[in-house]
Amino acid sequence: MPLDVYEPCPCGSGKKLKFCCHAIAGEMERIARLEENNQVRPALHALEQLERSHPGNPWVLTHRAGLLIEEGDNAAAQQLLGPYVESHPDQVFALMLYATAALRADGFEKAKSAIHRALQRGRQEFPSVVGSLAFGIAAEMAARGKAMAARQYLVLALQSCAESARQTVFVRLLEMDSETSVPYPLRSVHELANYSGTEENEVEFKKAARLSGIGCFAPAARRFAKLAEQEPENAALWNNVGLCRAWDGDHAGAAEALHRAARLHGEFGMAVECETIAQLLELTADENVISTKVYPYRITTSVSRLLTKLDSHERFGRIPIPPAEPDSDEDFPVAGYHIFQRAASPEPSTDTPTADVLTSVLGGLTIYDAAGDQPAKAYVNALEGETAEAIRTLLQSAAGEDLEPIAAEVEEPLPVGSVPRDYAFLQADGNWFVPPKVPSTVRRRLEREKWWRIVADGWANKAFSALNGRTPREAAGDPELKLPLTAGLYVLDALIDQDRYVLDLPAVCDFVHVELPPLIEVADSASMNAYSAVQLLRVPIERLTDPQLVQTLNRALLIRHKLLLYKVLREAVSRPGCLEKIDVDVSYSTLVQICREQDKRDEAFQWLEKGRAWAKTQEKAFEATLQWELRELFLRAEDPNDPNLPPLLKRIWDYYGVKLPQLRERLAALVEIYGIPAPWDTTGGAGVAAAFGAPTTGGIWQPSDPPAQSGQKLWIPGQ
Ligand SMILES: [Zn+2]
Repeated sequence: MPLDVYEPCPCGSGKKLKFCCHAIAGEMERIARLEENNQVRPALHALEQLERSHPGNPWVLTHRAGLLIEEGDNAAAQQLLGPYVESHPDQVFALMLYATAALRADGFEKAKSAIHRALQRGRQEFPSVVGSLAFGIAAEMAARGKAMAARQYLVLALQSCAESARQTVFVRLLEMDSETSVPYPLRSVHELANYSGTEENEVEFKKAARLSGIGCFAPAARRFAKLAEQEPENAALWNNVGLCRAWDGDHAGAAEALHRAARLHGEFGMAVECETIAQLLELTADENVISTKVYPYRITTSVSRLLTKLDSHERFGRIPIPPAEPDSDEDFPVAGYHIFQRAASPEPSTDTPTADVLTSVLGGLTIYDAAGDQPAKAYVNALEGETAEAIRTLLQSAAGEDLEPIAAEVEEPLPVGSVPRDYAFLQADGNWFVPPKVPSTVRRRLEREKWWRIVADGWANKAFSALNGRTPREAAGDPELKLPLTAGLYVLDALIDQDRYVLDLPAVCDFVHVELPPLIEVADSASMNAYSAVQLLRVPIERLTDPQLVQTLNRALLIRHKLLLYKVLREAVSRPGCLEKIDVDVSYSTLVQICREQDKRDEAFQWLEKGRAWAKTQEKAFEATLQWELRELFLRAEDPNDPNLPPLLKRIWDYYGVKLPQLRERLAALVEIYGIPAPWDTTGGAGVAAAFGAPTTGGIWQPSDPPAQSGQKLWIPGQ
């Protein structure tokens, strides 16, 4: 598009182009055409020439820098703009580009002061550049495990970004809020605390809050801290210092301030939340984590010889590996093993096994064939230190000369994750092998038992630095330690909640003699979107208005704290006013799922009945009801003695199978895989139930697959 000489000059002078950079307009147009034709090199070359003839022209300079950034040459863009922004502090666009290049070249910490200047100056004129800058910071923070900072920068990105980027940013925000690898108290919304003080201090407070609002969290934290020095007993100020430091990615500083806020808060619930966040942030410090690493081994003889040895060893359990994608270039393992802490029994010796039959899994072993110039290798995946050492010794005795560790100088063990040192026992004990013959219903009872042991024997007797080196059992009943102990319960809950298990929090409270913080009063006019995840756990669900309940449900579906979700769903499906505003099908199936996971089988069936009854009243009742029949099938299949399983299979076969021949194919495949006498071929009966034990094959037909998710995918008629 030709340039309009009566428009403001692109150099940012404020003058019309005709009276400013008119002399270079023709050449700039030519350069723009080169770019349109993807001739980036010639365009950059021409810009360089132009810069020589018109040194310091901001139009040429910023254009060239922008192009360099687009090309990924951030260091060059940074070098080009650095001296210029120092001598021209009013050139806001150059400043924005400089901050972007610096972030990408050096990372947030080194680029911080340039970023803060850009965020303060660019908000009015270049909101979309602020948006993309904030999005870039969020990505870096997420990669560094700074979840609270990542979220806060995403919020800023959402407020400032271009319309075309909104959807991407919004989806990323939702993903962050439901990222279960992050403990739930750190996820979702956290709001700055309010403050009242002298007029002068309130002005200062507002300045700090404004800095926080535009993403300048470190300067905001410093201002809050200055106020807090004047009023060292003010919980709200320390609370805000803590939050702003966390949003800046400074976990140690945040934890320190939040510990102080916790001690000062008059309201116990707020105190506990501050202390919980402080404890969780401390757990992520480098010195407080143990890495999971992948250790390389060379297979010195033959892969098949090694597999034979491992297959017959009682402390190695084969993991089924799916076949490689035909066109994949990736190296694909030929075998995988669980490495057990002790010999794993293939099946329990009694009908009513206890959690003793569960063997902890120390780590994993993956085996690759030789490929190209690479020899055959094996990789051990384990926590570094004691565990990795134990596995090394075990492998030496199990594989002998067939396997030798590769020296770290040749191939360094690769860190793939980390766990908090204080809670490494959750990783070590919370990962176990269930003998394949154990039916799912028994498996869940055993898991419940096992988790209780981990809490009652493991956690309760472990000394924690947050409890001044005392154990929860010792701290129970000590008023001095009531606050850190209650927060410790939330920490435990959050770490176990991460897709592992639903902790019976009230039961653990009883066990260590603490009470959970009291419920929060919620005004009818309050928006539930302002409540943090921990606060939502304290909301009196039954007293919420219908719109508040729907809002809370949407939050709970994202956060996925199981107990919260359960309470909210149960209330929502009971209110006629909410049914129109929620996905009833998903609500009932989630309730079934939660009850199933918690080994509340009877209640799961009750929700299943309600879901089916609802489905029958809906459009497309046939398909919808079938989904519920299949959910029941998955649930019943977990109990080999369930007398209702054969008639259910037969009912699905007879009634739905007539219209859906594919369904019959799948049912037939199902009974064949598990060796069930098909109730439609024979008289059915007890044989079916007896044969429907837990299968040894993995894969999509495993009845323990969650029906709420996988059932949907698998069974949609016509697929
Ligand atoms: Zn100009």
